[in-house]
Amino acid sequence: MCEICRTNPCNSQCPNVTDPEILGVCSVCGERLRADYIYTEDNDGNTFCSQDCAVEYHGIKDKEWDNG
Ligand SMILES: [Zn+2]
Ligand SMILES: [Zn+2]
Repeated sequence: MCEICRTNPCNSQCPNVTDPEILGVCSVCGERLRADYIYTEDNDGNTFCSQDCAVEYHGIKDKEWDNG
């Protein structure tokens, strides 16, 4: 059910009635990347829904020094 107009499918006055274009998917979680929303891209051209997914894709972690 739509959160705005509380009907399914949306009534014609609902701002949700036109679906934004889907321009890609996140390489990690498969989230659809909408035309009206920012996405994250790495230097290899992979696209992600967020920087968190880009970090996960590349296996980047914060670590403490082993000899600290
Ligand atoms: Zn609606
Ligand atoms: Zn993602």
